[in-house]
Order: sequence, then structure tokens, then C-alpha cells
Amino acid sequence: KGPDPDLVVIAERMATVKHKILVLSGKGGVGKSTFSAQLSFALAAMDFQVGLLDIDICGPSIPKMLGLEGQEIHQSNLGWSPVFVDSIGVMSIGFMLPDPDDAVIWRGPRKNGIIKQFLKDVYWGELDFLVVDAPPGTSDEHISIVQFLKETGIDGAIIVTTPQQVSLIDVRKEVSFCKKVGIKVLGVVENMSGLCQPVTDFKYMKQSKNGDQEDVTIWAMEIMREKAPELLDLIACSEVFDSSAGGAAKMCRDMGVPFLGKIPLDPKLCKAAEEGKSCFSGEECGVSAPALSAIINKL
Ligand code: ADP
Repeated sequence: KGPDPDLVVIAERMATVKHKILVLSGKGGVGKSTFSAQLSFALAAMDFQVGLLDIDICGPSIPKMLGLEGQEIHQSNLGWSPVFVDSIGVMSIGFMLPDPDDAVIWRGPRKNGIIKQFLKDVYWGELDFLVVDAPPGTSDEHISIVQFLKETGIDGAIIVTTPQQVSLIDVRKEVSFCKKVGIKVLGVVENMSGLCQPVTDFKYMKQSKNGDQEDVTIWAMEIMREKAPELLDLIACSEVFDSSAGGAAKMCRDMGVPFLGKIPLDPKLCKAAEEGKSCFSGEECGVSAPALSAIINKL
């Protein structure tokens, strides 16, 4: 029996892709797609050619996070063309759904089929990086992507988590999945790690005994400006989730995988993601931009 012809085609397609990175998370809603999108924007801002493949078949958020909602995939004689933003070629099932509210209720083999098609039929061209945004957990999609890409080499996986133990427990499962299938863990990112924003972005509320809140922002800012203007340059952070057990950094030490760093909860990052914008062009993101940069520079 000769080699699987599909894998041969995939290997040909992937021959022009230098690095392949999987972005994983144990749970949904921890910021995996946000990280994949901003990682792609950051690499593109460094003049790399980037492909971003969204294999979250049931909940594709990449088109929105790249500002590409409503775009369609086109066919050329070379294959399916990704949808481009800057130098990032993006592929997602989200581009194929007639109505974005449509539910995709597919069993494993069909998901397997579309992932194979993304790898076989998409003409990525020369890429420095292919970033693959996977769904949360370790399910059919993960097994498929590993099965299809393993022969051509995957550089490794980045795992995104939040600081709480419920999220970290699932990260351990992701790490063990990577170990089982022989994929290197490039590192773990702790997202939503405290709320940080400039003092001037806060709304200051005074709470009375009966629970009513009064907005005293103008008053508070005036006092600061008068009595301690240096306070206006401060960034205020507070813990949101319980990280008393040591958070992702401790888990990484326990499991012997690299810890890449923390990204705070940042309303500006959330806004950038909602609007499909990059944190690496202009002033879109606040405190999270340096945190993201530091993490990406470690890779
Ligand atoms: P996942 O891919 O893990 O399901 P998403 O990337 O879709 O999670 O993020 C869930 C929501 O949280 C999105 O609205 C996103 O903009 C927001 N979000 C993610 N990370 C941050 C952050 N560090 N600060 C503020 N909002 C964030």
C-alpha cells in the first residue's frame, strides 16, 4: 500500500510554509482566538508572511476578530484563496456559512473532511508562519489537524488559559495531549490575568449603605490633578480571578513546560478584538500590547 494520496497533497501544500503553530486552550472563552488573531497581526507587523487557519468549525470567531466578517472565499486555478487582511491570509469555515447565525452541527468525519480540505485545497503560497486556531479541548478537530500535519512537521503548540484552577486543570489535559501526540509545547500564556488600566480610564463610584452608586469620576480626577498629578500616569491593576494557587506559572513549573507570560484583562484589547483590529498598529490596545509583544518575542 502506497502513501495516503491526501497526505501527499498536504505535504506539497505545506512545503511552502516554514513554521506551523497550533493555538490551544482547555476551555472556551479564555482568549485563544483573541491571542491567535493578535499573534498573527504581530507577526505581520514584523513583516512576516502569515496564514491564519481557524479550525473551530462550530464556533469560528476568527473572521470577526480580523475584521473580515461577511467575506467570501474565492477559487483560483491554484485552489481556494484565503481572505487577506494586511499580509495575513485567513481561512475559516465562517467564510462559507450563508448566514453567520447558522449552527454547524457536524459529526467528527465531516469536521475531519473540511480540515483536510483546508490543508489540501487552500493555496497559502509562501508563508513564514501558519497559525492554527483550534477549538477548545481535545476533540476530533485536534486529532485531525495533528494527523494531517504531523508528517510535514508542527513547530509546536501555544496553550492559552486564564488563572483560575478550573481552567488550569484543563490545560494539564492539553499538555498531556501534546505529549501523547508528540507535539512540543512552546509555552503557556496566562490571559485575563488581572484587570489593568490607566488610572484615567477608570470610572470612580461612591457606594452608599443602601447599595446605590454615584459616579464621582470628575471629583476624583480633579483631586488627583490638583493634589497628586503623578498618580495620573499610573496603571491600576486588580486581581479578578483567584490565582492564589500560583496560576499558570506554577503549573508550568510542575509540568515542565515553558511559561510565556501574562496578558491582563484590558478593555482596549477586547474592543480591538470586537472590531477586528490589530494591537500592533497605532494605539488600539493599552496595557495588553506590551504584554503581548513580550510573549511573542519569547517564541
Ligand atoms: P476563546 O477563543 O478562548 O473562546 P475569545 O478569544 O473568543 O476566547 O475571547 C472571549 C472574549 O474575551 C472575547 O470577547 C475577547 O475579546 C475577550 N478577551 C479575550 N482576552 C481578553 C483580554 N485580555 N482583555 C479583555 N478582553 C479579552
